Amino acid sequence: MPDNPDFNAEETYGIGRYQLTLKGRWRDSAATAYLRPALHRPNLTLLSHASVLGVTFDGPTATGVRYIQNGVEKTAYAVREVILAAGAIQSPQLLHLSGIGPADDLRSLGIQVRHDAPEVGANLQDHSQIRTIVELAEGKHSLNTQIRNPLKAAGFGLDWLLRSHGPLTVGAGQVGGAACSALAENGRPDIQLFVMPLSVGKPGAPLQCDPRFTVSHIAATSSKQATTATASRPVQKLQRKPQRRPPH
Ligand SMILES: Cc1cc2nc3c(=O)[nH]c(=O)nc-3n(C[C@H](O)[C@H](O)[C@H](O)COP(=O)(O)OP(=O)(O)OC[C@H]3O[C@@H](n4cnc5c(N)ncnc54)[C@H](O)[C@@H]3O)c2cc1C
Repeated sequence: MPDNPDFNAEETYGIGRYQLTLKGRWRDSAATAYLRPALHRPNLTLLSHASVLGVTFDGPTATGVRYIQNGVEKTAYAVREVILAAGAIQSPQLLHLSGIGPADDLRSLGIQVRHDAPEVGANLQDHSQIRTIVELAEGKHSLNTQIRNPLKAAGFGLDWLLRSHGPLTVGAGQVGGAACSALAENGRPDIQLFVMPLSVGKPGAPLQCDPRFTVSHIAATSSKQATTATASRPVQKLQRKPQRRPPH
């Protein structure tokens, strides 16, 4: 497989390093890297501890959102456009609550239908992960054994502190890639590879003692299979009630 220096660019196919959001030697986040530095802008208002209840409309045009903050319901109006980015589960739920979704299902829950869109909330695809733990030959080391060696561990700490370098500055998954199975369509990768220089018995457990590393294969279902798999049983059940608790 070819070397791919940037999975987030136009081509995912190939093998390369995982990228991380870092600031110096510390892990960063979208909130601290992008949002906080922009908070002073006059055209940006951030409302925290607020839950969106639905989208408001003027005819077919979205005009804003209804939300609840500290127990008080309010509406925010959009000058140009409304962008709904509440995640894979709650974006379609908010559309359902706003009357956009499978008409019969919405009616059965007493939601007034604004637009019959059967695909909204359907076809959610899970991706199964197979974790393979590879045992290394005698005398070889992985992070499992290196971290138990006090000299090595101290070296990792110094590397992190003085050079912003080494295993403590990167994530567990360091190398990965995207490959095509026999079912891949149009050369579009449908398998993600995720390689970690360590192993655990189960997620969250301490590192195993022996020198081992982990290779995960994560399967992305092709669109044809997903349609067949979900046609008879929509994955996402409609729920009448929006989440009124502020998201964390
Ligand atoms: C365990 C796990 C591991 C993952 N690992 C990777 C990975 O290694 N690489 C990768 O590329 N992707 C990974 N993903 C996927 C990645 O996290 C998502 O694709 C990405 O976060 C989606 O971004 P988003 O902004 O669309 O939605 P989200 O990140 O889900 O953001 C939606 C936001 O909307 C808020 N919200 C929801 N409802 C409301 C409401 N009613 N009112 C107000 N706010 C609301 C939520 O609180 C949340 O903050 C992983 C996901 C999971 C769960």
